[in-house]
Amino acid sequence: MELDARRIPDGTVLEANICIVGAGPAGIALAHEFIGHKVDVLLLDSGGLKPEEHVQELNEGAVVGDPYAGLRKTRCRGVGGTVCLWNTPVGSELGAKYVPLDPCDLEERADFPHGGWPFDYSHLEPFYQRAQTLCGLGPLAYEGKDWSQGEHACLALDGERLATRVYQFGVARLFTRSYPRDVGRSVNTCLCHHATVYELETEGRGRRVVGAKLAGLSGGQLRVRATIFVLAAGAIENARLLLLSNGSSSDALGDRHGWVGRCFMEHPRDYALTLIPRSPDLFKAAAFYDAHPARDGTIVGGRVALDERAIRTARLPNASVTLLPRPKMEPSSIGVRARLLSRLRHLVGRQPRSGYGWSRISEMSRTFDAFQLLVNFEQRPNPENRVALARKRDLLGLPQAEVHWRWREEEQANLERLRTVLASGLEGAGLGQVVVHTGLRPDPNAHHHAGTTRMNADPRYGVVDADGRVHGTDNLYVTGGSVFPSAGFANPTLTIVALALRLADHLKLRI
Ligand SMILES: Cc1cc2nc3c(=O)[nH]c(=O)nc-3n(C[C@H](O)[C@H](O)[C@H](O)COP(=O)(O)OP(=O)(O)OC[C@H]3O[C@@H](n4cnc5c(N)ncnc54)[C@H](O)[C@@H]3O)c2cc1C
Repeated sequence: MELDARRIPDGTVLEANICIVGAGPAGIALAHEFIGHKVDVLLLDSGGLKPEEHVQELNEGAVVGDPYAGLRKTRCRGVGGTVCLWNTPVGSELGAKYVPLDPCDLEERADFPHGGWPFDYSHLEPFYQRAQTLCGLGPLAYEGKDWSQGEHACLALDGERLATRVYQFGVARLFTRSYPRDVGRSVNTCLCHHATVYELETEGRGRRVVGAKLAGLSGGQLRVRATIFVLAAGAIENARLLLLSNGSSSDALGDRHGWVGRCFMEHPRDYALTLIPRSPDLFKAAAFYDAHPARDGTIVGGRVALDERAIRTARLPNASVTLLPRPKMEPSSIGVRARLLSRLRHLVGRQPRSGYGWSRISEMSRTFDAFQLLVNFEQRPNPENRVALARKRDLLGLPQAEVHWRWREEEQANLERLRTVLASGLEGAGLGQVVVHTGLRPDPNAHHHAGTTRMNADPRYGVVDADGRVHGTDNLYVTGGSVFPSAGFANPTLTIVALALRLADHLKLRI
């Protein structure tokens, strides 16, 4: 069933077995798993079936600390969630890059006690397999050798420090249209849009959630009663909703040990390395590292990965390098660069932000002179980077979210070490010379929010337990990037979907 909350009479109480707050990939994947089951699921979303500009004002919020793109620009309210902003060309559509976490990302590491996940990669693997299918991807195969063939072959790297792996590419449409439609058409699942949850009602000093309060921008008030509640509203709103709800007498819900909102993480992007190829032939030889369809139709793109042994022994942040050919430029002429970029845009026929599509240009060695290396890397959790409530209020009169985010000296020092290892690994593989722009700060804006309701089996060190249940609250779960105790370098959606499928299995046994 599909409902528009604006048309439901004021004061109505909606009932369900499971109420899911947020229809982004996390909430949609979870609701989709219940289609055809004997369980009534209500999937709520703040926005409409398509993004509406005035609803995005609910995403306004403050940033305290270092420059950051802001809370409105980096997420979207509406069915499909932030997927509605995806901007990577995938065939003739827009979509995203997918990649799982590496096994080492889930391990405890010396630099942050209690930073490990409560399970290892082998536990997550079957859920990744299922997530691959739901996200419309190929097999769970991310090694370069799994896809290397013919004109699209891996370059020989040194193997000790660097390895070729891939991203897979998937379309946004599945989450913005196909699965929401399935949820809206099924008899036991209901998609209710224009329904913003602004507080969870609790009893027993936060031991149980008894209801959710909903408001519409045009003024109506609704309530939901359910046996189980799941927050799937994105990493900023999941924390904000807990902070807006009462737990025990003085604490916010789930915040007995003060972790709600803490350890906000992004995936910084570094542009300090440039590879000057040893030969212009490298552009053609590197075609594997551009997005391309493999034999089975899966769209993959090679990337240079840091070997896990290097991460463990040298205590480096996990990282992945994308090769972006740099258009040739006359030394004093900015106009030429602009012309070349516009030519590239024209040839590729897509917006160039993702940088993919370059290997389709026939005269590569005349068009490009170097590879700009885009390094996506890990930001380790830091409790001081966090989501809090701001003084300023949103359109519903509630405190906005405020993100505290700083890039620290020790992180810059680790980044400099990472650059050195990547540069020497690429030079050691004989690809050319790497120019390093030491001191340059990374761009924090991958728009991958994580970590604000971290998972830890011990309530003293996390907000949710290993099942995703809020410690101390019997019937409240959280899912999405907010539960990541650490986030590796990997674009988060595949892991977000895998965790949602895992939660679905847990709830099916419980309800
Ligand atoms: C430009 C861009 C490109 C990206 N590219 C990639 C990529 O290539 N690969 C990748 O893996 N990730 C990418 N991401 C990140 C990815 O989109 C997010 O990590 C993912 O969408 C998070 O899923 P989610 O379901 O947890 O949250 P969201 O997708 O943010 O969905 C949350 C939903 O909750 C709803 N909601 C919020 N608050 C409330 C409330 N109070 N009541 C009711 N509903 C509420 C919102 O309306 C929204 O629909 C990109 C993000 C951006 C901005």
